[in-house]
Parts: sequence; C-alpha cells; structure tokens
Amino acid sequence: MYKQNFKIILSFLLIFLNTIVFSQKKFTIVLDAGHGGSDHGANRTYSDIGRIAEKDITLAIVLKIGRMLEKNKDFKVIYTRKFDEFPSLSDRTNLANRSKADLFVSVHCNSSVRPTAQGTETYVQGPDQNDTNLEVAKRENDVIYLDEKDKQTFGSYDPSSPESLIALKLQQSKYLESSLLLGGLVEDYFVNKDKRLSRGVFQKNLHVLRMNAMPSVLIETGFINHPEESHYLASEKGQDEISESIFNAIIDYKKAVDRKSGGAIATKKPEPEKPVEVPLKNDFRILLMSSPVKHNDNDPALKGLNYILPIKENGQYKYYYGVTNMASVRDINLKTAKDAGFRNAFAVGFMPNQKLSSGYYTIEVATGKDKLSSNSFILQTLKDVERTKENGIFYYTYGKVYTLEDAVRLQKDMESKGIKDTTIQKVYK
Ligand SMILES: [Zn+2]
Repeated sequence: MYKQNFKIILSFLLIFLNTIVFSQKKFTIVLDAGHGGSDHGANRTYSDIGRIAEKDITLAIVLKIGRMLEKNKDFKVIYTRKFDEFPSLSDRTNLANRSKADLFVSVHCNSSVRPTAQGTETYVQGPDQNDTNLEVAKRENDVIYLDEKDKQTFGSYDPSSPESLIALKLQQSKYLESSLLLGGLVEDYFVNKDKRLSRGVFQKNLHVLRMNAMPSVLIETGFINHPEESHYLASEKGQDEISESIFNAIIDYKKAVDRKSGGAIATKKPEPEKPVEVPLKNDFRILLMSSPVKHNDNDPALKGLNYILPIKENGQYKYYYGVTNMASVRDINLKTAKDAGFRNAFAVGFMPNQKLSSGYYTIEVATGKDKLSSNSFILQTLKDVERTKENGIFYYTYGKVYTLEDAVRLQKDMESKGIKDTTIQKVYK
C-alpha cells in the first residue's frame, strides 16, 4: 500500500519535473550583425543623409529583432556583437556551435556595381557544402542532437560508426530543409508585408553558413548603393519594418518546428510517426532552361543561382541546377529555381553511374570564330583535342567517357589544371 502510494507520488513528481525541464528548454537563437569595427562592410555617402555603412545598419536591425524576441520567454537570444566591434567569422560560428543554438541568423546589406540592383535575398548553405558541414558536425560531436525518432533508428552517437555517419548526413539535410523554410518565410514577409522586391532564396557557399552545425540563414536586407533602397535601409521606418519581418519569420519558423516535433511542451498524445526520408534511386537536377548560347557562372541569365551544370546536347546548352537524391531537397531546389524566375523549370531524374548505351560524353573546352593557336594554353596542356567546324565556328572537345559522373570528374580535373568554363557535351552516335 505504502509502496503503491510512493510509486504514484514518484510518477507525479517525474511528470512535474519533466514539465519543468521541457518548459525550460528555450529555443536558442544566435543573431549576427554583419561586419563591425574596422570592417565597415558596404558603404556609401549621400548628399542628404551623409555616409551610411553596412555595419551600423546590420547592428541596428539585429538589436531591434533581439528586443522583440527577448520579450518572448520561449527564446534565448545570443548576439555575436552588440557594439561596433569585429568578431571574426570563426568567433561567430564557434559561439553558435558552443551555445548549441537552434538557429543562426546573419544580417547584411548588399552592394553592386550596378546602381539599379535592388531587393532582398536570403542565403542558405549550398549543396556542395554538405561535406564541410559534416566535418564540422563530426568535430563538434557533442552538438549532435537527434530527434526522438532518429535516436530510435540510430541509437547513441559514436563518431566511428557508419550508422552515426548516416545519422549525421540525415541531420545535414534537415538543416538545409529548415534553413530553406526560414529563408522562404523571411522573403515572403519582405514581399507581402513590406512590399519589397525579393530576389529569392539562394544556396551559396559562405563561411558563416558552412561552419555552423544548425539551421542558418544570411539575409541581405537591401542594396546600400541603390538611391532609394539605401535611404530605406538607413531610416528608422525601414529598419523597423525589416526587423519586424525577420522577427515574424522566426516566430512562424519556430511554430512550424514545434508542430513537427510535437510541441515544445511534452504532450502525452503520441504524434503519428513520420518515417525517416529514404533517399531516392535516382539523382535529380532542376532543368532551368535550354539555350543555343553558352552562359558561364555569374552570368545574369542564370539569375544568381549557383551550382549549375550545363550539358550540351544537339547544339543546345541545357542548364541544370543542384543535384540531390532526397525528394524534399529536390522539391525545395525546384521552388528556389522558380522563385529565382525560371518559371518553366522542372526536375529531371538521372540514374547514377548509368553508362550510355550509344554515344559518349566529351568536354567542350573552347569555341570561337578563330582557330586556337598551337601554343595556346589549352592545346599545350591537353593532348588529342578534337576540332570541328560548324557554321563558321570552331568547336574544340576533349576526352571520351560513358557516364555523367566520369564527365564531371574529367571536367573537375581539367579545372584543376586551369582550364575553366568548359561544358560537358553529350554526343549521339
Ligand atoms: Zn555584408
């Protein structure tokens, strides 16, 4: 009898303690005001408002976001800087990793050589960064916190076990998914609430995103060299609107994350189990467009997207964006492409390491109206370059391989020798 009572009291006590622990688990967010101290970032002098600098605008916005978040007891806010000082990029990411933060938000202003460039953009980690992120995650192994379902699947963390590596990779793809969610929310608020022009959510290889072991975004809040946008960025009204939009996006993001994990407060009702996403058999790339014209990286026609693989086929250059074998990432990549302005983009499946049954891949190393001279860098570096002429244009190709993966490897290999802006070409025979 006594024992029975004791058990009941004990289990009540446990529930009570549990509730305290759960309600005390705050959502830790690191707010990073870009630049600072001797690093002014983008800056410009105007006759009416004088000199404005990115470091001051980012700090003002971050402090405003922080003040709003600090009123909500669910959040713990950490600042990489609260003053005009310059923590290094590593200081910033180390602070975030050490704090086991749930989210990292870096605020910046943009600038461009074109004075007409304007609008906001949000960056998340690029697909090629996963390997670096994985290394960071392995090194910061105490940062690994899997959700309940993953723990059941993968057990406890042991850096040397292959299961843990799978778990880490899964975690990386979840970070990317979460970062894209927040990026989309931020840009939506800029457009719908503040009537700003959004240039979209992009994947980019940036230190502050690459070295973080948590979902992370970098927000470019506008162009300091644009005549009107600069004044908006420097104004109290502009800074209020921008910080409110980012604050609202963070609140919506946390709600979405809580819904997914079954609520911040422990509930008795078990959530319906969502199975762990299984990689697809095929790789997927997003076909942005086909064009008879060759565009190199950073060409405006590619609308700021990175990680583009052009493949030439029947005289047309097909531009593919990203590569993934996760359905969720494929869908997000497609959305990113459409948001960037490629309205007719669609996903194309590639069977990994598939040998062509007829024809082959080669690398187009140069094209032009003039013949390459025999002592040109390309002809000096590569043996057996083939030349063809069509409609007055010379085409130079090199190599013959039978899978796309081998073609990408061959292209990378040539790049390391200094032969850049080449195109993989599919030749039908
Ligand atoms: Zn910046």
